[in-house]
Amino acid sequence: MRKLIFGIALAFCAPKALAAYVPCAQLDLKNVDSDGMPLCPDVVKTNSAFAVLRCPLTSQNAYHKPTDASRAEVVALLQSWKDIRDNGKSKDRAAALYSHASKLDAQVCRVNNSADDSYLLVYAKPGVKDYSGVYMLLRETKASRMILLSPHNDTDGTAIDTPLALQHSHALALLYNGHQRGKIPHCSTTCGGPDDTLGRGDFSHDSVADNLGTFTAKALGDLYPKQIWFMIHGQSNDKAILYRVRSQNKVLANAWEKAMSNATGLDKFNPKFNADFTTEPGMNTNWYLKTEIPAVFHREKPEHLAKAFTELETYPWAYDETAAPDPAPEPAASPDPESVTVEDDPAEVDPALDGDPVEDGTTDEEADAEPADSAPEDPTDPAWKPKYHTFKGDHDYICLAMKCADGPPVSVSHCASLAKGIASFYKNQSHGKLIFHPRVEVVSVNQPYGPKCGSAVSDLARRKWGKALFALPRPYYHGNSNAGMRLANLTGYGNAAHETGHLLGLGHCGRYNGFDQESGKFGKLNSYGDGGATMSGLRGGNIRISQAIRLGWAELGKDYAVYDGVGRKEFTLRKETNIDGRSSGLQGLVVPAAVWSQAGEGRDMYVTFSQNCGHDPCMAVYLAANGGSQRLGIMGGEFHYTPSGLKITRLGGDSSQMKIAIEKAPVKK
Ligand SMILES: [Zn+2]
Repeated sequence: MRKLIFGIALAFCAPKALAAYVPCAQLDLKNVDSDGMPLCPDVVKTNSAFAVLRCPLTSQNAYHKPTDASRAEVVALLQSWKDIRDNGKSKDRAAALYSHASKLDAQVCRVNNSADDSYLLVYAKPGVKDYSGVYMLLRETKASRMILLSPHNDTDGTAIDTPLALQHSHALALLYNGHQRGKIPHCSTTCGGPDDTLGRGDFSHDSVADNLGTFTAKALGDLYPKQIWFMIHGQSNDKAILYRVRSQNKVLANAWEKAMSNATGLDKFNPKFNADFTTEPGMNTNWYLKTEIPAVFHREKPEHLAKAFTELETYPWAYDETAAPDPAPEPAASPDPESVTVEDDPAEVDPALDGDPVEDGTTDEEADAEPADSAPEDPTDPAWKPKYHTFKGDHDYICLAMKCADGPPVSVSHCASLAKGIASFYKNQSHGKLIFHPRVEVVSVNQPYGPKCGSAVSDLARRKWGKALFALPRPYYHGNSNAGMRLANLTGYGNAAHETGHLLGLGHCGRYNGFDQESGKFGKLNSYGDGGATMSGLRGGNIRISQAIRLGWAELGKDYAVYDGVGRKEFTLRKETNIDGRSSGLQGLVVPAAVWSQAGEGRDMYVTFSQNCGHDPCMAVYLAANGGSQRLGIMGGEFHYTPSGLKITRLGGDSSQMKIAIEKAPVKK
């Protein structure tokens, strides 16, 4: 029966009607239900909740940390909701819930799906610009044990399909981000600069203390402890679904693969989703699954997820916790430095997709790790230097605030702060050697909002201000960021540093999943996997020293040293994040390809200070050529490469510097 209703509902919601950009519907506070709860606009049912949530979501431009008072309101709001669930709807209960929401600067409305099914939407009031919690969809009536977390809808493409999954299933709740990450000033345009005290302002990466959304997820887990959690993300890979279940919960894993395969037609599943989220310790259960679904499915087939969720609800355990064995709860492990930063960010897909020529940064993993093109020179020659591809000096950096024939204009002030943020990021990273002069140009073209408008704007800009570099933020429509021909084409405001890096000739910073020090064999390369780097799949981070050297921003002897392969030498390396031109000391040690590699491998090796090992410093070792980098590993005590007898030992250090010794066994000629 449920299935039939669902099929009819979807027939009315053909994917075309579900476009993200439908006019934002405002709440009519006079249109209320029998208990006085305002009713949500009808567009929620005919399109999706995003038609109501999009406007408040995109108008947030500031962020604040939670206070004791706001945490208490969240707990009280959830309690009022449980009160309605347990005891039924009443004027008092509706008023109590609304007043707690109100103190959080939120409004509430109800969606009556049917006579015996309803849920509430909790989201920012009109005019509120610094809403710092989550948006919530809370089922009031009979619910399954399923809870959805959708923390990155603006970058992962989950904007429409996660609310639809709640609407068409009987899921208990959905927590949804309340502002776009990467857009809030605290986070800065680059998210990761020295003033970035709040992290990324979203509830899967900030701590419970720092983010009201993270706190809300925990409070929900405390209130309803036996639920089944789904942490939903998107990825650029459109051929497979990445996921991981907690503690080998095979029942959940098998059901997930079957349901998603039936819904999407995909049959490739990778059960090794390798990212840690700050919400995880709040879920004290092994019924927890995190996933990355192709972003293209989230965006273009928003009904798929709903289909999968209704299928999951056909299993008895979806409602009854005693219906399937629950392995003993496993406390969330402390973050593993090798995995904590790995997240495939669909907001960033490569230039090759749009056919824009970029010299580096292809998605082709092999090409990313391509050796340098010329034969290694003699590294014992004191004049030896890594290959250069300098990008320095003064350049105009223009953020294009596009204005199309229809659709919303791009905010001039966001565009201005983007350009300013990028200028200060690159001034900092380059030790003052790359100076961008930031400004905004409003460019109007008579094209409908969409890709046509974007390319008309960029063509015009290139003709008019040919020598500048450009950023073109497109915050209101979907697609992938890319860069080429002097233009960083952005899906939001937060990925500008990375895409601008491509314009300078930088490639991606990845990492090998495994490296065998004895045989010298590499595991598979994750091209975006070096999470501390700007050129990885994550926002924020730094330009790697190998890249700074390539761009002509670092000086031999001052910022980096070269090991010539002769005898045992000691070096002191400082923390890479002090790359501000004021602190001094070596940031990296270069081991030229000719020194470390016996197999003609053309990439130079770099050793840097890594902060990923807690109190003790550790060594990050990576390879680099052509503007990208590929991390081999993060080592505490020693790194060796047996094929050429190379050995690097950490001698000691503290949280800001580290002493290492390097030597190489003589090689028989
Ligand atoms: Zn990229």
